[in-house]
Amino acid sequence: MLEQLDQIEKDALAALETVKDSAALSAWKSAHIGRSSPLSVFLGDLGKLPAEERPQAGKRGNEIKRALESAFGTREASLQASELERSLQSDKLDISLPGRPAKRGRLHPSSQVLRKIYSVWADMGFQIYRSRNVESDEYNFTLLNIPPHHPARDMWDTFYTTDPKVLLRTHTSPGQIHAMREFAPEPVRVILPGMCFRYEQITARSEIQFHQVEGLAVGPGITFANLKATLSDFARRMWGENVGARFRADHFPFTEPSLELDIECFVCGGKGCPVCKYGGWLEILGAGMVHPTVLRNGGYDPKVFSGFAFGMGPERISMLRHGIEDIRNFWANDLRFLEQF
Ligand SMILES: [Zn+2]
Repeated sequence: MLEQLDQIEKDALAALETVKDSAALSAWKSAHIGRSSPLSVFLGDLGKLPAEERPQAGKRGNEIKRALESAFGTREASLQASELERSLQSDKLDISLPGRPAKRGRLHPSSQVLRKIYSVWADMGFQIYRSRNVESDEYNFTLLNIPPHHPARDMWDTFYTTDPKVLLRTHTSPGQIHAMREFAPEPVRVILPGMCFRYEQITARSEIQFHQVEGLAVGPGITFANLKATLSDFARRMWGENVGARFRADHFPFTEPSLELDIECFVCGGKGCPVCKYGGWLEILGAGMVHPTVLRNGGYDPKVFSGFAFGMGPERISMLRHGIEDIRNFWANDLRFLEQF
């Protein structure tokens, strides 16, 4: 009886030696440890043995069962490993083939100037404040001290919508009111970049859309000297430590007093050239002390708070920098132009 068991084990192990692939392994499994294998049949018939032989036969039978299962596991693992190895060898990837290079884009010249402007103002403690492109008449004009009858409204040819009170903003200044109303009575120090829209004849000098970067600082005790120092510092950080700057009086409805900032021509160093029209200076931005009416509209008491605001055009700065003569190039999507920057 025990010899019969030994023979079953010997036959099974010998058969396992000849197994070469997983199909043969699965056939071996059902033949030698499956439900109708000689071992299972033997264990199923234990009850037919004489009572004194049963314990020993059962013990030996189960030992063999465990041994065969473990031999099966070992064989299965080694077959899987060699099959994986074979597939890696036969399906090798050729990684020496050169790839197809991805076509790299670049930043639009306006984005390049905008990022430079952002980083300079960020270094000086100004946050970027985003505001909307579609504005109400009230924010775009009235709250900025440009009432309906004011002659300054003629300066902005405006895109109106079907609702006469809703328009595309003509400048980034309405963002000043949004920022002040959000932060008052706390101090504000922000720049407001964005696209502006004017209903104009498109020529080499004027477009219907362009960027502006507005700036606003409001707090107790801000003076005209702070404005001049801040703008001079901006000019040095933007155009170099030794750039000359000068201020000229100007007029805007939302600032009082108002000024223009010129910098020394960076092409000729102030000697005179076609870029500066032989004047030696380039007009860079408009600025001024925030008008008391505008402060009040923003939620600040002009007896306690004061502030300054400024605005500049990145496309104009880019045109001066690169000698671009036609503003229409910026939005014409012509790669011959864009790939130069
Ligand atoms: Zn010049």
